[in-house]
Amino acid sequence: MNTGQVLKDVANVVNLSTPLGLAVALVGRGRLRRRGNLIVADQARLPARFAGAFTVGSVVVLPGRTLEEAEARHPRVMEHEDAHTWQYAYCLGLPFLPLYFAAAAWSVLRTGDRASANHFEIQAGLDDGGYKRNPPRPLREGLTRLLRRGDRAS
Ligand SMILES: [Zn+2]
Repeated sequence: MNTGQVLKDVANVVNLSTPLGLAVALVGRGRLRRRGNLIVADQARLPARFAGAFTVGSVVVLPGRTLEEAEARHPRVMEHEDAHTWQYAYCLGLPFLPLYFAAAAWSVLRTGDRASANHFEIQAGLDDGGYKRNPPRPLREGLTRLLRRGDRAS
């Protein structure tokens, strides 16, 4: 473990993102263990499965699967999740969450999925995270599709 990783992981404790990740892991009754410098909570039982894996601070949460199962599907998933731990550090912790959701909303608007035009997922590596790449679409088309979807939901 190098000094930069130690400083990043200490920063993620101080900025409260890792404590939040541990709280999510405990609520989901995930099995906690270490993998390198990261904490892994696999087999977490969470009400919604919005991702095969997600990271909060320096905690990687795997809903309903083991790390080995996730790596069998996406061998570089831990490199991808490790990149997110650095993003928490440079966003000073919890501000990462609204920034990430804004980036995901922008991506949905521009490409129809939450990753293809999401700065944070692109920086973490779309292929490593198991994401497809949807091409960008005109902003007007994205808005029209979202408004139609809203009409169907109501
Ligand atoms: Zn990701």
